[in-house]
Amino acid sequence: MAAKQRLVVIGNGMAGARFVEELVARNGQEHFDIVVFGDEPYGNYNRILLSSVLAGSHETKDIFLNSLEWYQETGVTLHAGVCVEAIDRSRNLVFAAGGIQEHYDRLVFATGSRPFVPPIEGLTTTGGFLHGIFVFRTLDDAFQIIKHAANARKAVVLGGGLLGLEAARGLLNRGLEVHVVELMLHPMAVQLDPPAGEVLRTTLEGMGIRFHLGKSIKAATGDGKIDGIQLSDGGAESCDMLIISAGIRPNVDVAKQAGLAVERAIVVGDDLACVNDPSIHAVGECAQHRGQTYGLVAPGSEQAKVLADRLSGANPHAIYAGSNTSTTLKVMGVDLVVLGQKEPTAETDQVLTYAEPRRGKYKKVILREGRLAGAILLGDCSTAPRLLRAFHKQETVPENPAELLFPARPNKPANIAWDEPSPTASQWPLPEGEASLKEVIAVIRPERWIKTKLKVESLGITDFTHHRVVGRGRQRGLRFLARRGAATGTGFRYLPKRMVSWIVPESQVESLVQTIMETNRTGQIGDGKIFVMPLDGVMQIRTDESGVEAFQTPEKELITL
Ligand SMILES: Cc1cc2nc3c(=O)[nH]c(=O)nc-3n(C[C@H](O)[C@H](O)[C@H](O)COP(=O)(O)OP(=O)(O)OC[C@H]3O[C@@H](n4cnc5c(N)ncnc54)[C@H](O)[C@@H]3O)c2cc1C
Repeated sequence: MAAKQRLVVIGNGMAGARFVEELVARNGQEHFDIVVFGDEPYGNYNRILLSSVLAGSHETKDIFLNSLEWYQETGVTLHAGVCVEAIDRSRNLVFAAGGIQEHYDRLVFATGSRPFVPPIEGLTTTGGFLHGIFVFRTLDDAFQIIKHAANARKAVVLGGGLLGLEAARGLLNRGLEVHVVELMLHPMAVQLDPPAGEVLRTTLEGMGIRFHLGKSIKAATGDGKIDGIQLSDGGAESCDMLIISAGIRPNVDVAKQAGLAVERAIVVGDDLACVNDPSIHAVGECAQHRGQTYGLVAPGSEQAKVLADRLSGANPHAIYAGSNTSTTLKVMGVDLVVLGQKEPTAETDQVLTYAEPRRGKYKKVILREGRLAGAILLGDCSTAPRLLRAFHKQETVPENPAELLFPARPNKPANIAWDEPSPTASQWPLPEGEASLKEVIAVIRPERWIKTKLKVESLGITDFTHHRVVGRGRQRGLRFLARRGAATGTGFRYLPKRMVSWIVPESQVESLVQTIMETNRTGQIGDGKIFVMPLDGVMQIRTDESGVEAFQTPEKELITL
């Protein structure tokens, strides 16, 4: 057997760690001794859940993917908290902080990006930012923001993109007054067209976020500690903290120093090797492939798999041909899914839109040559799973493309009037052998929703409808908001809750209720309640014929747990 080679990975973030996992899964250790450098002092964590940590819906321990022990157990050498400073390609050597030096046969860059900080007067003082100014990229950033927010009253977020909005929501959850400053005329301008952006703005304003659109921050003020910002239009806002979320820039300094081909990021081919050095590769946000860089997890994961296939020998000819991207807003309490392009680009593109701005709904699909080229679902994502599948698998769209915007309905028989059944109900054929359907309704704390949803999905129950509701709050953890509201009159006497409804066959009721109770740890959810309701008058839909029957339950019952 040939001697093992030494594989060095720079960056232990989402793409780098995923690559190592994929390589290990393909028995890559038979070919390589694997060494990883990560300048964060931890194992590997799910960066996209930092927004949920900030919003208070996840604890730090919930977001770790691979602990330091995992690296020991799998025989991967991890230099945690060690920054790579230089590479000598003529001697195949990596130089890192603290005098650490490693030889490589293969080298993988997975250095990700850093936040872009635009030039703003008064932002820095000797030794860094004014106290109270933060970027939001790492777990340490999240810790510092949370710590500072505990004693702050008013925050400004620079940037109304996905990250900026998630940061804004996190701070709103922590009881702060939050202002978002955005250069474009609507939030999430990269992903949304103007009408969708307008609907999103209205929805977010309804939640309490205050927007300053079409403006930038000219200066930060304060003596050692931020106390306000000046806007480009001459306006000003006082604040106790500023989060800068104005975009990202790939980390390419070391690659440049090593003489690799770098444009916006490290230039790689379909083999994910650097175009001027076949022994060096790049994956994730620091890679530029076919002129494109990505700022999302999924492309990095796809690249990680291809590179692991190639280097492990599982598929030495695997190639990466680019990614179709989709985005969801995670922590806003707003349903939003965006796929592909937001505007048509060819004359023959077909565009379907549906807008109900007063109810916060906007839907749009762009079809090109019978396939989905882009979509925006805002305020109602009931067709998202179908759209995502059609988009990622590039399936041909249905004959009636309206089905992409609305759940499919069977033909209406002449003698039955449609009474606008809920989208969930309209998707539910009664499974064979089931006597009845039940509606299970749970009123739960917003920060428990994602966990509840995932647990319920693991039972195979994926359809639900949900509404934001308010309840009088004595909830643990949110009590400080109630106190703050009582003291300042900002209206927190009523606390946000989520009312979720699942329609399930009777046989699934018990496991569903059990799961909801376990995930919400009854006793801690204060006045949360679970109801099991009969479904009088709900339409039973048969998908194999055009008939629609009224479904009547034999008895009425209401169980309160
Ligand atoms: C708060 C937040 C929410 C997000 N939400 C989403 C989302 O909902 N969906 C989505 O798809 N994407 C989301 N993203 C983006 C997503 O996290 C990134 O696309 C993804 O992490 C990129 O993976 P990466 O490995 O390229 O970079 P990273 O995950 O940033 O990893 C790079 C690692 O390399 C380390 N490093 C850099 N230089 C060196 C060096 N010289 N030596 C040693 N180590 C080095 C860095 O410290 C870092 O740990 C979010 C990002 C943030 C910050």
